Amino acid sequence: MKIARISVFRVMLPLKEGSYKWSGGKGVTEYDSTVIRVDTDAGVTGWGECVPLGPVYLPSYAPGVRTGLRELGPALIGLSPLRLPQLNRAMDAALKGHNYVKSAVDIACWDILGKVTGQPVCTLLGGRYGDSFPVYRAVSLGTPDAMVARAAEYRAQGLAHFQLKVGSSVDEDIARIGAVSEAAAPGDVVVADANTGWLRHEAMRVVHAVSHLGNVYIEQPCLSYDECLSIRRHCPLPFVLDECIDSIDALIRAHADHALDAVNIKVSRVGGLTRAREFRDLCGHLGIPMTVEDTAGSSIAMAAVAHLAHSTPPELLFSCAAHNERVTLVTAEGAPRMTDGRMSASTAPGLGVEPIMDALGAPLFEIA
Ligand code: MG
Repeated sequence: MKIARISVFRVMLPLKEGSYKWSGGKGVTEYDSTVIRVDTDAGVTGWGECVPLGPVYLPSYAPGVRTGLRELGPALIGLSPLRLPQLNRAMDAALKGHNYVKSAVDIACWDILGKVTGQPVCTLLGGRYGDSFPVYRAVSLGTPDAMVARAAEYRAQGLAHFQLKVGSSVDEDIARIGAVSEAAAPGDVVVADANTGWLRHEAMRVVHAVSHLGNVYIEQPCLSYDECLSIRRHCPLPFVLDECIDSIDALIRAHADHALDAVNIKVSRVGGLTRAREFRDLCGHLGIPMTVEDTAGSSIAMAAVAHLAHSTPPELLFSCAAHNERVTLVTAEGAPRMTDGRMSASTAPGLGVEPIMDALGAPLFEIA
């Protein structure tokens, strides 16, 4: 079986809440999604999606996905979509770096592998654990009262894990974290995620001010790994790294330095499900709990994330994002939906999604 054609769609995804804001005044009002369809010479079709969180969250941006696919795509025609490690080697040989560009291709080929073998992707990734897994919601940066109200709204939907977007000013951030922590229900987890937005002195002040709160975690306080490590050494709270763990090497170093208690694995940041599985399995060996997610996404990216999350041992699955619950548009039938704060991967072969062509429109371009 060979890859015969790659079709690229652009889909704008409006946000249910109108905007999503995080540290440093950054934010988005809609997501710019790239959906791809990979057709094979055997008539089997796979789907993938990549949605950077705007152009300033990671070194990725939505038009870059499409530009990268124009560059990468011709090198993939004629390759097997079933030999995922070989396909990833071929992608790395054709385009250095730019993991996010490769992510949608890799996801689409896992979809094909699942359809060909008659297995859901989570079975191929190691096997499903239980009936469902817990998800979290990110609480957009706002006033303390607004963030408490959002968390209460999400709690009413069955969620118990809240990731607060912080990183505007120290005193406001301390107030945000304190307000949501104190309003939390027993068993709730409150993660204060600065998304690289604090300088070290700011992070130190926040960490000291909230260190008595028993339900609070600190996530990616500063931009660089070394800055985060210095905060970690003074932080009595559980510590999560996200943006700076962009390679297996970075993960190994962080583990050796005792720099983290949990890690955030984003499928597109590491280059797709093949590489995310490597991270996931290494974290399993090292005993590092994971948040399994992507930068953002609609039904198709969420399906891929759900298959990885559902095949992650429950005690190591810190949480999983409910990406498609943030957006108004459903891009595919069969995608996971949140019920009582939990989701499940499809039991159908492949990703288990059937894209809604009216939502995708006509392809922007095709590579054959
Ligand atoms: Mg984060």
